[in-house]
Amino acid sequence: MTGLDYLTTFRCVVCGAEHPRGTVEYVCPCGADFCVLDTLYDYARLRADWDRDALAANPDPSMWRYTPLLPVTEDGQRTTEGKADGQRGVMQGVASPLANVGGTPLYAAPRVAQALGVREVWIKDDGRNPTGSLKDRASAVTVLKALERGAQTITTASSGNAAAALAGMAASVGLRAVIFVPETAPAAKVAQLLMFGAEVYLVQGTYDQAFDLCLDASREYGWYCRNTGYNPYTVEGKKTVSLEICEQLGWDAPDRILVSVGDGNIIAGVWKGLRDLAELGWIEHMPRITGVQAAGSDGLVTAWERGTETVEPIHAQTIADSICVGIPRDPIRALRAVRETGGEYVRVTDASILAAMPRLAQTAGVFAEPAGATAFAGLLRLAEQGRLDPDERIVVIVTGNGLKDIPSAMRAVGQATRIEPTLASLARVLGG
Ligand SMILES: *Cc1c(COP(=O)(O)O)cnc(C)c1O
Ligand SMILES: [Zn+2]
Repeated sequence: MTGLDYLTTFRCVVCGAEHPRGTVEYVCPCGADFCVLDTLYDYARLRADWDRDALAANPDPSMWRYTPLLPVTEDGQRTTEGKADGQRGVMQGVASPLANVGGTPLYAAPRVAQALGVREVWIKDDGRNPTGSLKDRASAVTVLKALERGAQTITTASSGNAAAALAGMAASVGLRAVIFVPETAPAAKVAQLLMFGAEVYLVQGTYDQAFDLCLDASREYGWYCRNTGYNPYTVEGKKTVSLEICEQLGWDAPDRILVSVGDGNIIAGVWKGLRDLAELGWIEHMPRITGVQAAGSDGLVTAWERGTETVEPIHAQTIADSICVGIPRDPIRALRAVRETGGEYVRVTDASILAAMPRLAQTAGVFAEPAGATAFAGLLRLAEQGRLDPDERIVVIVTGNGLKDIPSAMRAVGQATRIEPTLASLARVLGG
């Protein structure tokens, strides 16, 4: 049983048209700007066939435990090894990295909660995914869709992590990946791409230009396109982070979820996962989704403040490269996720992101890249402004691993002390 047994229609977020499955591939034929598609399931039938007890009995800790809600013909484990359901426990062999996406830890952070004066803070560490970011969830689903279609090649444009994730997931199953990243992408992410054997093009331009080039190339050469805010399935992969959070909290949904935002596709996924759970009746209330952007890449914050769904293009610049986006590609869902859940958008400076990185590492034990620590910086900002309720149960999503960007990490923490290899030298520095 997979989500394809239940998938009914795709609905355009702009014109509202519903397209029966099989009639559309990427965006809505209406052709409006940012006319991405929501994937809808027959929730009544799903509710009859699947419940939380059945889920609890599934020993698979990866995102594929939610396959009945995922739009794939077979899940990531069957694809890579053909293992039967239920054969895999935590300590057993795993078929491939593709089979091992998700299932990331949700850590209690009592010292953070205490310092901020709120009831509970939890850190969802998605930097623990196979290639080090939440993007693995989306790339895993799109790689399966490419295989289903018999595509020889999958392509994406990316500020870095989506590409690394796609390259890793494609390598996991022997699919060709063609990647377009801005030439300014951090070295560690480019290293991942090359290491996984992807064909990498460093575009002399912005992410936004790389995005358009990738679309043109996929049409010209018939490659399956994973682009964010274009391929409908990325959100379906990303939503599994919300499914996990709610399951890990025993289906007692948190009051607030904070997430960093660039294109707005992760926040759309966070919201979709919660909406799916509400449709199934598995959660009783909607968490308030709080989006956090860097001040130099704050198009969605500005649109939210102005109460509009139109986002003005900006010249984006921030140390948090993964959320450095001049034209957000999933703006409508990104804004509705916040408006319709009673959440908010928060803007944080690069300095506060750099300060949040060691604070997160030292009070919760999680090392995040700048965009990965941005949601935490947003939490600190809300606390400073006295805008958190002492009774709140809060989840902060860490979207990417700190090892992705060592130069920024070193900027945040400075240098270590050099000593000669003698006890005397150590005593001198210890003695002060
Ligand atoms: C991609 C990414 C984001 C933002 O996701 P969007 O869908 O672009 O909003 C945040 N953090 C990290 C680490 C990312 O890789
Ligand atoms: Zn439409």
